[in-house]
Amino acid sequence: MDSFFYLIILIICVYLGFRFRFLTLSGSIAAAIVGILTVLGLHLEGLILLGLFFTSSSYWSKYKKSQKEQVEERLEKGSRRDWLQVVANGGVAAVASFLYYLTDEPVFMVAFCILIASSNSDTWASEIGTLSKKPPISIRTFKRVPKGTSGAISMLGTAAGVGGAALIAVALFILFDAAMELVIFVFLFGFLGNLIDTGLGAFYQATYRCNRCLLETEKMHHCGQNTEKIRGFSFLNNDIVNLLSSLIAALIGSVVYLSIT
Ligand SMILES: [Zn+2]
Repeated sequence: MDSFFYLIILIICVYLGFRFRFLTLSGSIAAAIVGILTVLGLHLEGLILLGLFFTSSSYWSKYKKSQKEQVEERLEKGSRRDWLQVVANGGVAAVASFLYYLTDEPVFMVAFCILIASSNSDTWASEIGTLSKKPPISIRTFKRVPKGTSGAISMLGTAAGVGGAALIAVALFILFDAAMELVIFVFLFGFLGNLIDTGLGAFYQATYRCNRCLLETEKMHHCGQNTEKIRGFSFLNNDIVNLLSSLIAALIGSVVYLSIT
């Protein structure tokens, strides 16, 4: 009976996500699968954590949209999430929740929370950080670079990253009645995921240049022609960097968790 109730909530959420253009059709289907796997292991509480991440990051990506138009030029995709972005942001967490369902091992629940906290920290940092008045500083060159450049940091973005990880940690405290040590643990590793994301973005993410307008971009096409890769690995786009950084944070967090409990 409970499961049926959760399923209804899930369908309503996914429908609203689609209806209000936060998700594409493929993104909606992926979100439903991610939601079902999450509900199996971590029930309504897990779904709420996931929902907090998806709604807050969608909210921030739509917030002051007009100020972000120049930035979107630079980024590979717009604010509407397709299946790849949903899987990159929620897929591993859904698998962690499903493993928790299968094994009942608390470490998978911890991993789930770190994955969500990391993704949330990341998204808040980049979506809110682009609203910073000053351009961010690249951690690769220590020079100011245009807003929206991967691997660059600003005060506002860093504060937003702290807030994004903290929101999930606080929700964990309220929803799961978690011990304070665990709440702080999830917060720290969630924020670590954001730092890893910045590092990967700065040094390894594929970056291209448009030879017509000289824009540095994550897009493979610009001004009606192919852009030229100037650094990074071709397969390492923004989605994969997001996925890898939260995965690495969750793996390190799980190992530390297992060794101290
Ligand atoms: Zn161009």
